[in-house]
Amino acid sequence: MNQATQPGITRPTVLVTGASGYIAGWIIKYLLEEGYTVHATVRDPNKPSSVGHLLKMAEGAPGTLKLFKADLLDKGSFAAAMEGCQIVMHTASPFVLEGFTDANEALVRPALEGTRNVLESVNACASVKRVVLTSSVAAVFGDNDEIGQTPDKVFTEEHWNNTSSVSHNPYQFSKAVAEREAWKMQQMQTRWDLVTINPSMVYGPSLTPGSQSASIDTLVQMGDGRLRTGVPKLTYGVVDVREVARAHLLAAFKPEASGRHILNATELTMLQIANILRRQFGKAYPFPRMEAPTFLVWAFGPLMGPITRSFVSKNVGYKIRFDNSRSRALGVQYRPVEETFIEHFQQVVNDGLLKKKR
Ligand code: NAP
Repeated sequence: MNQATQPGITRPTVLVTGASGYIAGWIIKYLLEEGYTVHATVRDPNKPSSVGHLLKMAEGAPGTLKLFKADLLDKGSFAAAMEGCQIVMHTASPFVLEGFTDANEALVRPALEGTRNVLESVNACASVKRVVLTSSVAAVFGDNDEIGQTPDKVFTEEHWNNTSSVSHNPYQFSKAVAEREAWKMQQMQTRWDLVTINPSMVYGPSLTPGSQSASIDTLVQMGDGRLRTGVPKLTYGVVDVREVARAHLLAAFKPEASGRHILNATELTMLQIANILRRQFGKAYPFPRMEAPTFLVWAFGPLMGPITRSFVSKNVGYKIRFDNSRSRALGVQYRPVEETFIEHFQQVVNDGLLKKKR
């Protein structure tokens, strides 16, 4: 029996910001299944693609879902949702890697001002005792070549991203400045503590068809032929969305939880991800079969999308590694990543997000 459903035990009420998101969907599912009351904020509670799946999962679940409207850039807009909450899980932040012209407006300002805005409301809300922040390994490092400066050639929670900026890796910059701000604000008081979850690239089935998360788009690209001619020799840390969601609950309810937690199951190159998919789905989709020579990626990458020459020279060809021991000590158990990618790609197919190769 879990804490929320034990008779006589007070159930903390939990605020989840960005409730419509890919990761938040799983967090809310687990909270509702375990009997918690969830105050969920979205920008538009009347938009079926944002909240339809949440309302459905709340039907018949032991927990209770209450929807609230809040915007990261709207000062004070989280206050009503926070009333009576003991735990705040702040997941909302734009996760887009392309399709914008002003990186500051699209990414950095919502991430930084949004975190400040949420935490100012936490400061004003006496019931809140703990904040769990969805940060990222993007707040740990900026470019893969930084692995060379680590003592044991492994990224740990000790590291901070000091290299990203609005013009170079703006998403990474947005996560680094937001997490720094959160720690700064936490250290200015003693009532609430802060635990951060720092996932690498998150994959695995999505509970929402509406998410704009870059996690979903990168998997679509693998199967729709856009990468048919070859992938850059890029290594990513990868982790299942369900582990990331579980980590939020462990961080929230384990009294001894503290500090940062890298969430990473393993490291894979883009080609290794494609190979996992090809082994399962055969020749039905035009998965990439080779790595493109780095000089070609350097020459043509900038013509094809958001990939810059500076990004290529600092990332392509570098192996990276993460220490996940703090998350395992928290209680996270990692499933094999094959399961993650196969289930996720199957869902992309089922949702009609790509067409089968003729
Ligand atoms: P997602 O599906 O795009 O979710 C992000 C959420 O942020 C959306 O639901 C969106 O809500 C909300 N949001 C964006 N701008 C907002 C604003 N101005 N005001 C209020 N809400 C706003 O992405 P995700 O992958 O689940 O990411 C969730 C968190 O995990 C983010 O903090 C991200 O940086 C972090 N993270 C993700 C990954 C990954 O690989 N997916 C890895 C590491 C960390 P609306 O419905 O209102 O648009």
